[in-house]
Amino acid sequence: MSDRQPGFETLAIHAGAAPDATTGARATPIYQTASFVFEDVDHAASLFGLQAFGNIYSRITNPTNAVLEERIAALEGGTAAVAVASGHAAEFLTMHALMQPGDQFVAANKLYGGSINQFNHSYKNFGWEVAWADADDPASFEAAITPRTKAIFCESIANPGGVITDIRALSEVAKRHNIPLVVDNTMATPYLIRPFEHGADIVVHSATKFLGGHGNSIGGLIVDGGTFNWAGDARYPMLSQPRPEYAGMVLSETFGNFGFAIAVRVLGLRDLGPALSPFNAFLILNGIETLPLRMQRHVDNALKVATFLSRHEAVAWVSYPGLPEDRYHALAQRYTPKGAGAVFTLGLKGGYEAGVKLVSNLQLFSHLANIGDTRSLVIHPASTTHRQLTDAQKSAAGAGPEVVRLSIGLEDADDLIEDLDAALRA
Ligand SMILES: *Cc1c(COP(=O)(O)O)cnc(C)c1O
Repeated sequence: MSDRQPGFETLAIHAGAAPDATTGARATPIYQTASFVFEDVDHAASLFGLQAFGNIYSRITNPTNAVLEERIAALEGGTAAVAVASGHAAEFLTMHALMQPGDQFVAANKLYGGSINQFNHSYKNFGWEVAWADADDPASFEAAITPRTKAIFCESIANPGGVITDIRALSEVAKRHNIPLVVDNTMATPYLIRPFEHGADIVVHSATKFLGGHGNSIGGLIVDGGTFNWAGDARYPMLSQPRPEYAGMVLSETFGNFGFAIAVRVLGLRDLGPALSPFNAFLILNGIETLPLRMQRHVDNALKVATFLSRHEAVAWVSYPGLPEDRYHALAQRYTPKGAGAVFTLGLKGGYEAGVKLVSNLQLFSHLANIGDTRSLVIHPASTTHRQLTDAQKSAAGAGPEVVRLSIGLEDADDLIEDLDAALRA
């Protein structure tokens, strides 16, 4: 073999995996077991003391999940990863390793709605405060930073689609204040954007979406970029201070550039418990094997459908950065040259009623609350996910009465266009 680095397509299939040592099984087996037998008492003691790597109990590590973790770390270009039960668990365990009661983090105001709820309400129970900044204005992040700020959080391609974040600019703010930049890379996947190359320190994923890609399992991933120096930094005690539960071990010193991933696993996952089922890890691994092929088709189809809709007489506007006239087109060319994602919104001239009629009339598109499936999906936020908000709140969240969100799947693009055209005319 030459010293050539494997390409993305090769890593998507092979990273982390090898034929099973005992059986020769070529596909990664589902290690559907709660526990693992120790070799002897000394082995058990060294595992519990973090002196040796090995499996104890599937809440903390599992061999199927470990293949998924190595694969996403390779695809993102990180040092290590942790698989967890959902995207929300990935966000929560990340913050748990960074934040103490009374701490604060600055988040972009354009995020997945569930993340906005999690940050605004549930995190209050832990004494964690969120400060919202304008996703399009890096200076607003800097202005929100206080001595208790422990992280900056954004999405690479932001929900509900159509927003490209200037990750490099946010990373410069983070570096000036010596705090980590956490990027939710769910909508882009590492096929479209690799946030570590633009200065991110930690990447989180909902693997439920494009990574798994088939709408069949909930899962989350946390990837350590290995870039942030936690050692000796008293602001991050989980990483820099002696841990009483591990005989005074300092995780950032013992584990160096994958200390963050270790902290998430041996403090967060161990104590809070949102472990990923190995069966879900297996399904997500299978999804990732075809990620490059699928993502390219997703974005190609999305551009065709968005172009068609932007010229349709029933459509007031389309928000898709792949369109040359879009306000995020220049950022899309810089950050997502292969395509600007496959989730976007459009506004209907007919308002609320037209939105309700469109979701009812579509045949191929499924009306549901998810994105990143092989199947094309549609939702009318004003009558579903955002219905409890006032009209002003809906509009501020990009969910005005006329807004419809599409997640473009892998069907024949002409069939999708035909379905949309018929439903818009009905
Ligand atoms: C879906 C989603 C989440 C939450 O992930 P779950 O797997 O549903 O818990 C977080 N961030 C983004 C961008 C998402 O789309």
